[in-house]
Amino acid sequence: MNNEHFPRLLSPLDLGFTALKNRVVMGSMHTGLEDVAGGYKKLAVFYRERARGGVGLIITGGVSPTFRGRLALSATQLSFRWQLSRHQYVTNAVHAEGAKICMQILHAGRYAAHPFAVAPSAIRAPISPITPKALSAKQVESTINAFVKTAKLARMAGYDGVEIMGSEGYLINQFICIHSNQRNDDWGGDFQNRIRFPLEIVNRIRKAVGSDWILIFRLSMLDLLKQGSSWQEVVMLAQQLEKAGVTLINTGIGWHEVRIPTIAAVVPRGAFTWVTAKLKNSVKVPLITSNRINTPELAEDILKNNHADMVSMARPFLADAEFVSKASQGRSALINTCIACNQGCLDHVFKKQRATCLVNPRAGYETELEYTQTKIPKKIVVVGLGPAGMSCASIAAQRGHTVIAYDAQQGGGQLNLAVRIPGKQEFNETMRYFSNRMTELGVEMHLGNKVCADDLKNSDADIFVIATGVLPRVPDIEGIDHNKVVLYPDVISGRVSVGNSVAIMGAGGIGFDVAALLVHGETDENQWNQAWGIDTAYAHRGGLLPAQSPIHAGRKIMMLQRSRGKMGASLGKTTGWIHRLSLRNAGVEMLSGVAYRHIDDEGLHIIQHGKNRILDVDSVVICAGQQSDHALAKALRSNNKQVHMIGGALSAGDIDAESAIRQGAELAAKLG
Ligand code: SF4
Repeated sequence: MNNEHFPRLLSPLDLGFTALKNRVVMGSMHTGLEDVAGGYKKLAVFYRERARGGVGLIITGGVSPTFRGRLALSATQLSFRWQLSRHQYVTNAVHAEGAKICMQILHAGRYAAHPFAVAPSAIRAPISPITPKALSAKQVESTINAFVKTAKLARMAGYDGVEIMGSEGYLINQFICIHSNQRNDDWGGDFQNRIRFPLEIVNRIRKAVGSDWILIFRLSMLDLLKQGSSWQEVVMLAQQLEKAGVTLINTGIGWHEVRIPTIAAVVPRGAFTWVTAKLKNSVKVPLITSNRINTPELAEDILKNNHADMVSMARPFLADAEFVSKASQGRSALINTCIACNQGCLDHVFKKQRATCLVNPRAGYETELEYTQTKIPKKIVVVGLGPAGMSCASIAAQRGHTVIAYDAQQGGGQLNLAVRIPGKQEFNETMRYFSNRMTELGVEMHLGNKVCADDLKNSDADIFVIATGVLPRVPDIEGIDHNKVVLYPDVISGRVSVGNSVAIMGAGGIGFDVAALLVHGETDENQWNQAWGIDTAYAHRGGLLPAQSPIHAGRKIMMLQRSRGKMGASLGKTTGWIHRLSLRNAGVEMLSGVAYRHIDDEGLHIIQHGKNRILDVDSVVICAGQQSDHALAKALRSNNKQVHMIGGALSAGDIDAESAIRQGAELAAKLG
């Protein structure tokens, strides 16, 4: 592999008994394919593409060592020989492409979403409705033995090693911290007793599998819990794990139940590598760092700064299977970058759907969404280069069609607004990727060129794709034309300014975006850590500051919605709480179950809980949804053209970047 462009990232790592071809780890990520009939064959293709793309070491999604340890009843487990063959699809596929793969062993403990959950103590996690049963001492022993059995089976299945999941608040982490371990036998009490469980697991696995097999421990280096480990305890455990025979230590950040974002887009890039760096001089085994690392440039810098020996990225490999090979070829500007949105991946997994990727809809669908070369090349006109249009144009061109694209602006569509929202700047990468990809593939782009049906009526194109996006919907309310009223695109783009008191009508994704823009503005990494209470000096247990210093809005903001339910109910499961919490912390008032009466000089008149109320505000921002414009498609169809509509142009009601990009890709995959 050419390591001229990223000399540290792409250099091999000698582990003594074996070597990894580079310092890139594809981190553990549950795809949902593990849990369905026939899923492992699809999973093998998924991993094979990532291995072909040059990643050195893959770690699978978590596999339970016991029935009770499954995350859900349908979740995958490896405890019997008859289960080996499905894993062999995966290991054979990865090895055929020259990469290595470790299987993660994950016991969910009290995070298990079923009534058979067990834990060190019968203490319910705040994110679970289920109170687990406390493991008896005998059950603790049998659970350790189950970990060993699973590791031995993993070796038989052809894996190059295992990763023991000891972080993120799962069973092993539950034993380590007094927060969830209140036992008074040999497995609880003082710290040395609480860490017996992970140490026994590692010791016994090492004895059982021999010294020539990779054993990774994912160590919770920063619990972000009041009763989490102190830094001294993290170091003690790391040193004892090293003695017990781990090959690599991976970085875990935060328990799932903690209300501090650790991987979402609002987290600054590489925000937690300082934790791994802090451990660097205390152990000799190589350390893997992780969380919000999404470009080879950043990964190279992390290694250059000696923060770690390897860099783990999970979601970036959903976004682009060729991440490593593009980096090694000096083509990193063509990497489709993970934007940390969680929409296509984790949000799907939480809804028990297959994980995919907002910017790469093929992820997880490698055997179903294929971009094969066309046998009948066509001339395709794409009108509108927002997410749907860019996706369709680039994939159609990739398949061998001639593509001519028009955009009234400079391309990007609604993403141009998204990038102005704090925490959504990563969409710049999506626009950069698609723009470079279309250029590479020879898409003929006419930017700043608004076309109408007349401009296209004499076109000799075979197919027309209308992807002209959405227009903001303006509700029919008395006073809607009052000078206090502004539309969200004008506010986000900065074309108009709002006053010191603002009512936001609509609490969907756009309403939350506008509120975030008006509240937060730009924050640096230090301010971000302070706002979420993260103690980078690690002077306190769990790495938490005694108090947060939330960022307060400089103006009075009220968000309103008609429905009575939770504000922002349509936001993603894994990120909605972050948006709600950060706005509440900033003092944003949220009003649901509101009826709008009218707008006048006094402000916005509403009815809430049956009572009239006047919101005395300077500005009313309309975030009341969007609408499509079908005029161009209708006119072209009346000229007997073959027309397809995608994205917001087709249906504005529930469109978002994820569905727009997917629609563009699915259409492009079947054209011609
Ligand atoms: Fe990254 Fe979003 Fe894709 Fe998930 S869906 S891999 S967070 S870009």
